[in-house]
Amino acid sequence: MNHERSRTLYDRALSVIPGGVNSSVRAIQPYPFFVQRGDGAHVIDADGNRYVDYVMGYGPLLLGHSLPEPVQAAIQSTASEGPMYGAPTEIEIELAEFVTRNVPSVEMVRFVNSGTEATVSAIRLARGYTGRDKIVVISGGYHGAQPSTLVAGDAEDPTPSTPGIPESFTKHTLPVPFNDEDRLRAVLSEHGDDVAAVITEPMLGNTGIVAPTDDYHQTVRELCDEIGALLIFDEVITGFRVGGLQCAQGKLGVLPDITTFGKIVGGGFPVGAIGGRTEIIEQFTPSGDVFQSGTFSGHPVTMAAGLATLEFVAENDVYDHVNALGRQLRGGIRDILADRAPEYTVVGTDSMFKTVFTRADSPVQGGECVDGCQQDRACPRFSECPKNGADVRRGETDRWERLFWPAMKEQGVFLTPNQFESQFVSYAHTEADIEDTLEAYKAFFE
Ligand code: PLP
Repeated sequence: MNHERSRTLYDRALSVIPGGVNSSVRAIQPYPFFVQRGDGAHVIDADGNRYVDYVMGYGPLLLGHSLPEPVQAAIQSTASEGPMYGAPTEIEIELAEFVTRNVPSVEMVRFVNSGTEATVSAIRLARGYTGRDKIVVISGGYHGAQPSTLVAGDAEDPTPSTPGIPESFTKHTLPVPFNDEDRLRAVLSEHGDDVAAVITEPMLGNTGIVAPTDDYHQTVRELCDEIGALLIFDEVITGFRVGGLQCAQGKLGVLPDITTFGKIVGGGFPVGAIGGRTEIIEQFTPSGDVFQSGTFSGHPVTMAAGLATLEFVAENDVYDHVNALGRQLRGGIRDILADRAPEYTVVGTDSMFKTVFTRADSPVQGGECVDGCQQDRACPRFSECPKNGADVRRGETDRWERLFWPAMKEQGVFLTPNQFESQFVSYAHTEADIEDTLEAYKAFFE
């Protein structure tokens, strides 16, 4: 493949944009390819190379790149009437009504502009509502670029995970491992009266993919109730993808107090949202006194794109299609690995997938973790599947960037450039795309 133009663009970008990119995960060595346009399930780069795309904008593009006609029409007619107003519009109510009708725990919702803004606001809301300061987070979980959750270490010794966060902030954050009920119980019994909320992704989508063991979230729910802390599900990735329109909470049968959304709910435009029970969400200003505000919040074009997308999804076989292709892809990769590289594990559920590159001495081996079998203690390989972020990180993570990603890209398959981020099948993918992708996996492992 020729990448000359991408190289030139990267050189230009490096002199005016730090690292040449506007989100650090996009930085690929020696250089990223620059996208010219999308086409269905594919992207075409600046040099004219075509890739089957499983990054899908890091999750928002459930329908792929070529939006169905009603979605296009909604976006274009809304944009043509003027970009935004600083006054409410009816479309905001319609999208809020759609979300509250479909997501089991959500009675009221406030829209913001990113997943990060949603989690920042959700944590401030939990603190304001409970009058407590501490937050329990899951190690290996990700809730955006915000000081309350960019915290490493453990509950005994939390430390900033990036320069720029004062040590003193981190004393309010208590990291615990995913799927470890005993550790969570111990931390909550020590700090219970000070804990405003436990925030967790329903499954780890940014160090993973790691599914919850069968009754984990039910236990987290009960432990929160015992100490009067709120449970926040960060459904920025899983929202309107895992578990269909009910989201992961519907699939798991566990209702959080607050849910954060992003990605799909904006139909490909910048979005975030905080939903939950009315008595909690109404604590936001102006109905309550927890400050929350934003110039672009409830942006009409985003609301139109989100609503038209979700209405299209509700009326068509979108989840059947993406979940069936997800199963086909995970099963196909699993079969390829079983013969050629059995120390690798395929993880994921619904339309999400990833390959965890494990080592022979890692507890994580198998190549068989598909379709949520991690949730099933009866599975013969249950003990071998990743249970938390540390299990995933123990693998040979550099192999992804060094070997796997570039080799797949050269075969026309665009995967997430680092080991930890989820990958997505969209409504635009076809069986032929999946077959081509499996051929590329086969060629790499041969
Ligand atoms: N929460 C989760 C679970 C995410 O995966 C992300 C981003 O990928 C965020 C929050 C932050 O969202 P954003 O990048 O829109 O700020």
